[in-house]
Amino acid sequence: MRSAEVAIVGAGPIGLELAVAMKRARIDYLHFDAKQIGYTISWFAPQTKFFSSNERIAIAGVPLQTADQGKATREEYLGYLRAIVQQFDLRVNTYEPIVRIERDDEGFTLISKPAGNGRTVYRVNKLILATGGTDRPRRLNIPGEDLSHVDHYFRDPHTYFGKRLLIVGGKNSAVEAALRCHQAGAQVAMSYRRERLPERSIKYWLLPEINGLIQSGRIEGYFQSQPVEITPTHVTLARGGAVGGERFDVLADFVLLLIGYEQDNTLFKLAGLELHSDCGAPVFDEQTMETSVPGIYVAGTAVGGTQDKYTVFIENCHVHVERITSALTGTAPPAAPVPLAQPES
Ligand code: NAP
Repeated sequence: MRSAEVAIVGAGPIGLELAVAMKRARIDYLHFDAKQIGYTISWFAPQTKFFSSNERIAIAGVPLQTADQGKATREEYLGYLRAIVQQFDLRVNTYEPIVRIERDDEGFTLISKPAGNGRTVYRVNKLILATGGTDRPRRLNIPGEDLSHVDHYFRDPHTYFGKRLLIVGGKNSAVEAALRCHQAGAQVAMSYRRERLPERSIKYWLLPEINGLIQSGRIEGYFQSQPVEITPTHVTLARGGAVGGERFDVLADFVLLLIGYEQDNTLFKLAGLELHSDCGAPVFDEQTMETSVPGIYVAGTAVGGTQDKYTVFIENCHVHVERITSALTGTAPPAAPVPLAQPES
């Protein structure tokens, strides 16, 4: 049985930044991820640019430089994360999900399930959960949602060239996908449940273009509509943004459901953490990031639970690393960061 002072679960940007901090503080740690490092970013469509500027998503004090000095693409950022792992010689047990957490007076027993390798047992004194907040796409739970031409992830605009694509949703993912697919030669329509796009929730550089394309009819906007059924040839929408409204059909070769994401808080429950009833986020101490279970800390976007209105991003989570490191080393916690004038930008 391998043991260490600390275990980090989750190897996204903040999990990796924590690992570097553990190394710098000479704390013996183990690191696990159920998938690959930066997994959530890996499912962005090719060449997607981050909304956050490079300095805000750089980790461990390592500058993030890009080829055009613009915001990093998916590919540039994943390359950056791989380089961080190599540079700091971080050992991440990837594809090794933790499936059980047992607590006793001296610490925690973790049981993992590495691929094809039975179960492995570890002992640690402290546990940091940096498991993210967007584990699975939200579902509509309507007939036809799992047909092969329906996707909950925007994977590649090329797929939709010359085809009728209906995108469901009205915030950044839906708008960005609509613009990219239109530019890639798809015949795009959008179904959104409200009267108009939520201008304050959409990035200001996307808004004029999507509004212009919808107003000119080059992208069809079905506002106040709610999908009730998907068939191989069309989507049935209900007027009024509620399922009870009058129904009509929109032809679609492909359907993209970009209606947000949900957190998988199974590990929080396994660990017995107290959770907020609305979003499932763990209750924690703002100074130390320690949860209701002594010795278990939470970091990164995991602190936000399932977010309906996004307020927790990579860029405002770096301070979690400093708070946890201070708590573990017994040094003074960092000062509260000055709130960013414009978050995620
Ligand atoms: P989101 O902000 O949660 O938006 C989900 C959209 O789906 C909303 O318009 C919502 O409607 C709608 N919706 C939710 N449940 C629905 C249902 N049951 N039926 C019909 N519609 C439903 O998710 P997101 O757009 O994927 O954005 C997630 C995060 O990723 C945000 O922080 C965003 O800024 C970020 N993002 C970043 C990039 C990038 O860095 N390049 C790209 C895209 C997104 P309401 O408006 O009525 O709530």
